[in-house]
Amino acid sequence: MDTLFQNVWVVTVDERMRVLQNASVRVHDGRITYVGTQPQDGNGARVIDGHGRKLLMPGFVNGHTHLPMTLFRSSADDLELHTWLNTRIFPMEAKLTPGSVQCGAELALCELARAGVTTINDMYTQCRALIPALERVPLRATLSMGLFGQAENAQAQLDDAVAFHRECNGALGGLVRVGLGPHAEYTNTEPYLRRCADVARRLGCPLHIHVSETKKEHEECKARHGVTPVGLLERAGFFDGNRALLAHCVWLEEADIDTLARTGAAALHNPCSNLKLASGFAPVPKMLEKGVRLALCTDGASSNNNLDLWEEMRICALMHKGHALDATVVPAEQALYMATRGGALALGYEDVGSVAEGFRADLILVDIDRPCYQPMTNLVHHIVYAGNSRDVMLTMVEGRVVCENGAIPGVDLEEIRMRAQQYYDDVFRM
Ligand SMILES: [Zn+2]
Repeated sequence: MDTLFQNVWVVTVDERMRVLQNASVRVHDGRITYVGTQPQDGNGARVIDGHGRKLLMPGFVNGHTHLPMTLFRSSADDLELHTWLNTRIFPMEAKLTPGSVQCGAELALCELARAGVTTINDMYTQCRALIPALERVPLRATLSMGLFGQAENAQAQLDDAVAFHRECNGALGGLVRVGLGPHAEYTNTEPYLRRCADVARRLGCPLHIHVSETKKEHEECKARHGVTPVGLLERAGFFDGNRALLAHCVWLEEADIDTLARTGAAALHNPCSNLKLASGFAPVPKMLEKGVRLALCTDGASSNNNLDLWEEMRICALMHKGHALDATVVPAEQALYMATRGGALALGYEDVGSVAEGFRADLILVDIDRPCYQPMTNLVHHIVYAGNSRDVMLTMVEGRVVCENGAIPGVDLEEIRMRAQQYYDDVFRM
């Protein structure tokens, strides 16, 4: 069915970052077919009238997630990354089953849809269990099977990831895209990384990997291989005809940043996770200056501990000002761009992330009839510095409503909550 939004404010996040008042936006067949201020005929459409007090904007793009980790939320906190991984996360992950992976993903997808996130880029194992979760809460998703090239069954993992690509790339009416997810330099070998790069090139699928998240990892890679992690990936062919999606990029050196800028590889920036795990400050102002493609991300819920892009956007804008002792870096417009259109382009979604004719109708409606959006001075700045994910009233992916007033059509949130609690109590509690 068509949808017609009328009498809404629109933050377009188009090339000119236009903000429209008393506008109409029409959605037909999953695409935006009209954006403007001419009155539109509501015939045959569901009409949603904003009465001048609602805002329509692109849905958020979450560039790096591990959906099922919601099950570990707040059960491994205040630990340094490698202790966190080795003593808490890896032991809990060893107990995952397709049932618990699906349950954690369902919980995550509900949280994301309610917070206005419409696109995710996930890396995890047992990815097949994410498909039924996405069937219930259909967000746009890139799913990459996490690969550990140092393991004995490394080749079998890669073969399985290729089979998953064959089975599920393009699933759910094209909402699902499948990539390869070699976990990190320190869990892989150079020949294996090269094999992943070759396979991804042949399949035309993205490569998603953790890069230079901690200083330790960055320096150890240099000691091991004589080059930085980005240098190693370049040597392994990650940037030759491949779409490389590099999570974290906290410890990049000048030459690494130049490599990303030159090759179009994306840096997936996780402000809250980097702060919480004390990983450091990614050189975001420098990357922006050099034209690196950037996406904003939450990382998994056990290092954040929520999946709220509004928070990432605000903290991103704040943390880099504080770190650079310069209040002009990462202005609000740039933070919003990274969280929407910029993130979509970084992930390779050319027609996602703006409210523009011909674009996919991944949209959110926000209640701006609240004190924190008054007076109406600058709506973009309001969204970044004053707004909140709880103001999201409706989330739409490809023209289909996936959340409205906190409810997910066809999904019993209470049932998911109970199942998640059961998994935690019975399986993961340490
Ligand atoms: Zn991660």
